[in-house]
Order: sequence, then C-alpha cells, then structure tokens
Amino acid sequence: MFPGNFEYVRAGNLKEALTLLSGEDCKALAGGHSLIPLLKQRLAQPAKLVDISGLDELKGVTVEAGKARVGALTTHRELAASEALQGAAQVLSEAASKVGDPQVRNRGTLGGNIAHADPASDLPAVLLALDAEVSIVGPNGSRSTKADGFFSGLMDTDLAENEVISHVEFSSLGAGDASAYCKFEHPASGYAICGAAAVIRGSEVRLAFNGVAAVPFLASAVGDSLSGSDLSDAAIDSALSALEHDDPLSDLHASAEYRLHLAKVYGGRALRAARDRRG
Ligand SMILES: Cc1cc2nc3c(=O)[nH]c(=O)nc-3n(C[C@H](O)[C@H](O)[C@H](O)COP(=O)(O)OP(=O)(O)OC[C@H]3O[C@@H](n4cnc5c(N)ncnc54)[C@H](O)[C@@H]3O)c2cc1C
Repeated sequence: MFPGNFEYVRAGNLKEALTLLSGEDCKALAGGHSLIPLLKQRLAQPAKLVDISGLDELKGVTVEAGKARVGALTTHRELAASEALQGAAQVLSEAASKVGDPQVRNRGTLGGNIAHADPASDLPAVLLALDAEVSIVGPNGSRSTKADGFFSGLMDTDLAENEVISHVEFSSLGAGDASAYCKFEHPASGYAICGAAAVIRGSEVRLAFNGVAAVPFLASAVGDSLSGSDLSDAAIDSALSALEHDDPLSDLHASAEYRLHLAKVYGGRALRAARDRRG
C-alpha cells in the first residue's frame, strides 16, 4: 500500500506551522501513527503534510499551582513515564502506558490521538473524566474548549482543518483524590474495545468510556449517583446497573450488547481501582 503524492514540509515553529497549514488541503503530521496508515490506504489524500513533530513549544508536562498542562506533542511514552502525572492524573499515564506497543508509544502523541478521535483510542475518555480543556491555535488566535464538547462524531472533532492543538489543561488531583484506567483491548492492535476512565476528586466521581460508542462519553448518571456515596462495591454495582447508551457500536469485534456488558465490568474495575488508590 503506497500513499498518493503529497508535498512534505517541516515547520520550524508554531507560527510557521499555522502559515503552512493555511493553504488548501493541508494536514498536520505529528507521530504519524494514525495519519500514515490512512495515507497508505488512501483514506486521506492531502496535498501537503506539515510536519509539526519538531515543535518544542508543544511538548512536555508541567504541574504547577494545582493546574496540569500537557503539550499536544507529548508522546504516549512520555505520558506513561511522567512522574508529575503520577500525582496529578495517574489515569492519563496509565492509559498512555496501555496504548498499542512500544513503537506506537514512542512516536504517537496526545494531540494526534485526540485529533484523530478514533472511537477505540484510549486518551479521549481520560480527558472527559479529568474535565480537561483542549487549547487550540489557528489563524484567528487561540481558543479553548471543554473535552466534553471537543469530540463531535465518529473520528470527528471541533477542530478546523487549519487549526493545531497546542496543549490540554486540567486541575491536578490532590491528596485524597485518585484515578484509574482499565480497558478490554483488541488482542492484535491494543485499541480499546472498551476503555473506562474513572476520576474521584473530593466527593465528585466522573466515569467516561472509549470504544463503547462512536463518540467517547461521560457516564454522567453513574458519576452523579456515586458522587458523595461511600463508593462501596454495592454502590458501584448499583450505579453501573443503570448504565445505558442510545447507540452502542456493534461490529465484528463486539456486539452492542457485549460492549455495554464490558462497560459495566470495566467501569466497575476502574472505579474500584481509583477508590482503592485514595490515600
Ligand atoms: C499498530 C497501532 C496500534 C495502536 N494502538 C492504539 C491503542 O491501543 N490505543 C490508542 O489510543 N491508539 C492506538 N494507536 C494510535 C496511536 O495512538 C496514534 O499515535 C495516535 O492516535 C495519533 O497520534 P500521532 O501523533 O501518531 O498523530 P498523527 O498520525 O501524526 O496524526 C493523526 C491526526 O491528528 C492530526 N494531528 C496530529 N497532531 C495534531 C495537533 N497537535 N493538532 C491538530 N491536529 C493534529 C493529524 O493531522 C491527523 O489528522 C495505534 C496505532 C497503531 C499504528
């Protein structure tokens, strides 16, 4: 499988990347682990690829004054290894450590993962559970949007073609808070057939899923019913028993009914793991 012809340019800084992306039919290239397979299958045929992978201003994790900021070009390996994230958002490191294989984790990035918005990706639900904001830069300046509004459809987001995700931001977890990510993965690719991200922040509980539906979603009714509860096994099981979705995915890997079953099982595992990690 060979891609069609395209022009390749490497951006030296973010301003240059935005200028290069302002033309017709351009695409940003980060780790290439989602885009290059699409090019090879000719499911994407951009005229120009703008390689943003060298932009240092979009890399790294900082945790300061109760806020965590993660650059879009931070790789899955860096997320998994980040000591700062162990306290601020273990769920993000944990999910990144379960992405694909070492090659994918070495090259693939947070920004590429959420921009690609594959329903089976691991990081979207994590951002929903953390109530993260996605920061975006484009020709008209910068803007930010809640992760909850960012994912808009099957492999579709709020991002315009000539915009670049610069970073994501969220309130870091504190003492007594905890989080966890559990997934039922595809045995060959590692992609999530069902991935559950749980965050317990004070008395608030948030649970979100990848893989179960075309768009990652926050299980608000489950979170609401557990917020302020004793998070006993009985409370978790009872909250999850009411978990529903209007339109679960159904394909050769798992039927809709099985996916919903997995969501209850893996949602329960993520919630219990987070509960048991609390100090
Ligand atoms: C064998 C294999 C197994 C995998 N397994 C998993 C898995 O288990 N879980 C999982 O979550 N993922 C998995 N992936 C996908 C992997 O995580 C990708 O790396 C990731 O989805 C895309 O990140 P990237 O940096 O490689 O993006 P690219 O492939 O470079 O880009 C993907 C898309 O995002 C856009 N983009 C990239 N960066 C930005 C940015 N900063 N701003 C705006 N748009 C941007 C590109 O234009 C393109 O449309 C797997 C991939 C492979 C090849």
